[in-house]
Amino acid sequence: MHVETVEAAGEVLTVSVSTPGRVMGCPTCGVVASSRGRRRRVLHDVPHGDVQVRLVWRQRVWRCAEPECGTGTFVEQAPALVARRACLTSRAVTWAVGQLRRDHATVQGLARRLGVAWKTLWRAIRPVLARLDEDQSRFAGVSSLGVDEHLWHHGDPRRKGPKELTGMVDLTRDAHGQVHARLLDLVPGRSKKAYTDWLRARGEQFRRGVGVAALDPFGGYKAAIDDQLADATAVLDAFHVVKLGTAVVDEVRRRVQQATLGHRGRKGDPLFGIQTILRAGAEHLTDKQLNRLATAIEADPAHDEVYIAWRCAQDLRAAYRTRDTVEGRRRAENILDSFHTCPIPEVARLGRTLSRWRDAFLAYFTTGRQNNGGTEAVNGIIELHRRLARGYRNLDNYRLRMLLAAGGLTP
Ligand SMILES: [Zn+2]
Repeated sequence: MHVETVEAAGEVLTVSVSTPGRVMGCPTCGVVASSRGRRRRVLHDVPHGDVQVRLVWRQRVWRCAEPECGTGTFVEQAPALVARRACLTSRAVTWAVGQLRRDHATVQGLARRLGVAWKTLWRAIRPVLARLDEDQSRFAGVSSLGVDEHLWHHGDPRRKGPKELTGMVDLTRDAHGQVHARLLDLVPGRSKKAYTDWLRARGEQFRRGVGVAALDPFGGYKAAIDDQLADATAVLDAFHVVKLGTAVVDEVRRRVQQATLGHRGRKGDPLFGIQTILRAGAEHLTDKQLNRLATAIEADPAHDEVYIAWRCAQDLRAAYRTRDTVEGRRRAENILDSFHTCPIPEVARLGRTLSRWRDAFLAYFTTGRQNNGGTEAVNGIIELHRRLARGYRNLDNYRLRMLLAAGGLTP
């Protein structure tokens, strides 16, 4: 392309381009065509900072000179610049996909920077994502596979479609022992069938390759693993187990609050202000926060229950955080031996849950596969993008968006 003119007007830069003149043959018969002048075609290109860029392509128009040929008039094409009938340049589409993948951009924000409608941009991006999705090589080499539940939208009744989704995450370590977790797929439903069907569709070679199958404590997923990944070791995902512990502390705090004050927590109540402190790991707390925790607990003898529940949740975290997995496993066994006997009903219930999942809970410490960071990272990205991508009412579009953001469309 030759640049003919460049004009800056306000927030828009207009660049006029054309191809060099040459002899053109008819695409059908090959006879030399005669020029029929130019046609203006406006294309939206990659923005320059905050400045929108428009390419005005002065497209050459030709006419076949052979009377026997039915081609008539034809317009020059430049596939490297722009697809047929598209209004975004090919590099603008590639740029937008890259921004969505790496920079937590929104389609709305990118469309604004390109000077097009949301719909126009999504229509250009969607086929690119669909092609990456269809490429089966993205499932190759998975030896550690995670599965857990995702909520698509929080019960908005105006939106159709399933609320519960099952997400599959690649937790395989690289040669340096690092996990670069990738969301491999999102399918409707939360059931044995949802996961079984997906595993079946991946084929035998894929299933044989999976040595470790991480999961959240849900019987349906375990049944699917037993069914389809019989040779894999099932491991409870540390991220979900730690979350169960945090949920117990929350429950105890709310119950004690209700019992001592007769109402839900309000600003000024001793237990109300320490919610975030109770949810954090003790190792992250400052002295000031530890003092606030102590003051809140000492405010009423009934608050001892909250303190004990918090200690139990911290023990659970500590088992996972222990560097030495033999020591970690010993701590986990202590938890299995003690939690179910706890007089605090919520802690006892967690103890019974962990006992039911004993093998998968302890397997974490013997497979040498600390997969918690991976699942947590993918969950964080999905959370962020669910907020950014509020507009998605169509499951297929939502799924492609999440796969792109969480690394699933990088073959
Ligand atoms: Zn012709």
